[in-house]
Amino acid sequence: MRALLPLITLATLVGCDSHVNVFSLDDDRQLGADLHAQILSTPNEYPLLAREDYPEAYGHLDGVMDQILASGAVRHADDFEWQAYIIHDDSTLNAFAAPGGYLYFYTGLINYLEREDHFAGVFAHEAAHVDRRHATVQLTNAYGLSTLVDLLVGENTGILGDVAESLVSLQFSRAHEFEADEYSVRFLCPTEYAADGTAGFFEKLLEESGEGVSVPAFLSTHPDSQERVDRVHAWAEELGCTVEPSDNADWAAFQAALP
Ligand SMILES: [Zn+2]
Repeated sequence: MRALLPLITLATLVGCDSHVNVFSLDDDRQLGADLHAQILSTPNEYPLLAREDYPEAYGHLDGVMDQILASGAVRHADDFEWQAYIIHDDSTLNAFAAPGGYLYFYTGLINYLEREDHFAGVFAHEAAHVDRRHATVQLTNAYGLSTLVDLLVGENTGILGDVAESLVSLQFSRAHEFEADEYSVRFLCPTEYAADGTAGFFEKLLEESGEGVSVPAFLSTHPDSQERVDRVHAWAEELGCTVEPSDNADWAAFQAALP
């Protein structure tokens, strides 16, 4: 009977609030660790650059991460693992995140962008998915109450493995994409980076669409890139953030440190 009261409360909430999350921070960490292990075990699909072979590139990546985590705007900066990785695939313009702080950036994306501000924007966007816990919010909605029962009474401890499987194919909702864009502005606002850096990636894609640049899958499901650009600029203005570009001095060195 003990479990019933929270369930009724949850049943009421799940219907009307897209932020309900029955998973704990520990679950986020565990799911992320599971997913990362899966990624490590499939190097053909996810050829990660080894940290020890590319210390300069990783030094640069960690530098961007440290600034964002030190912004004071990341709610779970101290709760999650926060590890960033580079995937060696020059033809993929993409990045993705796993719960608990695992972030992945393709060399294709790093080579494509011309400004560190814009990369910091993509980084902050992915970090926002993690910090807002979008994956487990979405899983809460997808798995529904029968799973919640198992989780709450602790009877199905194998459930996290199943859930981790479904994370691989998880696509964030349009609302979560907008929220990650908004929080990317909040994260960048206190840093040296232009707060609207996230818009730079979309602007470059929009400029070059039709010039042989293939739009990554995670964008083609959200054909409203112009709306995202407009909103990012509007948030930066509304929050009073500086959009002055940073000096970009180290960006070329980051790209040159890649294979
Ligand atoms: Zn996203």
